[in-house]
Amino acid sequence: MLDRLKSTVTEMAKCKRVGKLLQSYIDGEVDIDQIELISNHLETCLKCGMNYEIYSDIKHALQLGHFKNGALHEDALALQRLKRFVSTLDEGCANQ
Ligand SMILES: [Zn+2]
Repeated sequence: MLDRLKSTVTEMAKCKRVGKLLQSYIDGEVDIDQIELISNHLETCLKCGMNYEIYSDIKHALQLGHFKNGALHEDALALQRLKRFVSTLDEGCANQ
């Protein structure tokens, strides 16, 4: 039981770390050790994997210029909601 608790705590620490690094990871601003840590964790952690998908989607949308045009104001609002959603996910990570 203690082992289980220990691994849960370790996973939670990882989630927190990965969550903080996720955006830099997507932007390619992390070093090779961090890349390994993050990509390993993303494969095993559903919640962080989902966060990663959401961040990538946002980044792609930004790159495509979907949010630049004033006519697409609703998309910008959706983006804000999405970002808020992601930050709540970060906090709730590994509390299963
Ligand atoms: Zn995680």
